[in-house]
Amino acid sequence: MTGPNPLHERHKAVLPDWLALYYDRPIELTHGEGRHVWDADGTKYLDFFGGILTTMTGHALPEVTKAVTEQAGRIIHSSTLYLDRPMVDLAERVAALSGIPDARVFFTTSGTEANDTALLLATAYRRSNQVLAMRNSYHGRSFSAVALTGNRGWSPTSLSPLQTLYVHGGVRTRGPYAHLSDADFIAACVADLEDLLGQTQGVAALIAEPIQGVGGFTSPPDGLYAAFRDVLNRHGILWIADEVQTGWGRTGDHFWGWQAHAASGPPDILTFAKGIGNGMSIGGVVARAEVMNCLDANSISTFGGSPVTMAAGLANLTYLLEHDLQGNARRVGGLLLERLRAIGVGVDCVREVRGRGLMIGIELVKPGTDDAAPEAATAVLEAARAGGLLIGKGGGHNTSVLRIAPPLTLTVAEAEEGAAILERALRSI
Ligand code: PMP
Repeated sequence: MTGPNPLHERHKAVLPDWLALYYDRPIELTHGEGRHVWDADGTKYLDFFGGILTTMTGHALPEVTKAVTEQAGRIIHSSTLYLDRPMVDLAERVAALSGIPDARVFFTTSGTEANDTALLLATAYRRSNQVLAMRNSYHGRSFSAVALTGNRGWSPTSLSPLQTLYVHGGVRTRGPYAHLSDADFIAACVADLEDLLGQTQGVAALIAEPIQGVGGFTSPPDGLYAAFRDVLNRHGILWIADEVQTGWGRTGDHFWGWQAHAASGPPDILTFAKGIGNGMSIGGVVARAEVMNCLDANSISTFGGSPVTMAAGLANLTYLLEHDLQGNARRVGGLLLERLRAIGVGVDCVREVRGRGLMIGIELVKPGTDDAAPEAATAVLEAARAGGLLIGKGGGHNTSVLRIAPPLTLTVAEAEEGAAILERALRSI
């Protein structure tokens, strides 16, 4: 299609300017199947970003569609005033998988709301509105979640009353400790945390993404949060793991991102969202009973745990476990990472190719420098789209990391096809 897109014109006229869309000519997706989506012009794309935009088991998975349709045909009505069988069923499964002893689960409708609830719990439990978050983090953009989001490109206007202090450690490749060995990096970040805590009193919690998602798929060395945990425990501070992007096996080696720091044991509070609903809006919080039950309020969500979304979650999770999609993320993600690293060696704007499982980032710089290259990232995104591949971008205040997070059902042939398109896109700019 050429000329202005009428839907885009209507979008701009009625929706907020900050509802940013990818691409010069934004895409209207009309349908999907597996790892592919189609736009309104009938163009087919291989989807290497649907995993972040919530598709864990692939687009239009028949098992999920059937569960949703059947439940919608019975009852959609959402009310936490009555017993909800699909909610109890899914809560039991999530509690068992969480690794948290004596776990209680509360469902929300988004990751932001899950983090809000985690804050509500931690601040009430500790009777303090001071929290620690990681630099370069993203935890959502509600009035309180935005105050946890250290990535200023995403939280420029927070006037939230929450008091947040930002900790080093989320970004391994840049910053003052970048040149250190893993062990020295961890020691430096722990010293920084201790220093910060020496200046505060009564901090409620530390919230952290095991791998920073919006921040550009940056990962601390394994064990960082175990080392933090010793310090937090000494102060009675809770650890909240935001697993919105890293949960459900995406990182391949582990079911949850926190397990890469396993010596620390499970977090006090775990938040999840995105992939579990395969597109339906499910978020949630898991905490041990003592923490979850510190609130003496009535229910705090109308739509959290609504039966149709829970039916989708149950079907989706069953498929994920029965088909060992975590193992698939490890195998296919490992091959894809290797292939993209080999491609990156020959392209001078590629600074680093990093990742775990099916969560892979390609950091771009201006050739011959260490400077971020957001224009290059945008150009690669456009070139990949022209080649029939959808990817994402993120990273720091000027987004120059290409983000790859396909559905966990990605096949080896699709990984190779996507890598070949990406190679052409990288070489074309
Ligand atoms: N936490 C993390 C780590 C995220 O990546 C996101 C979304 N990008 C959120 C929280 C917020 O989730 P939602 O958009 O569902 O509110």
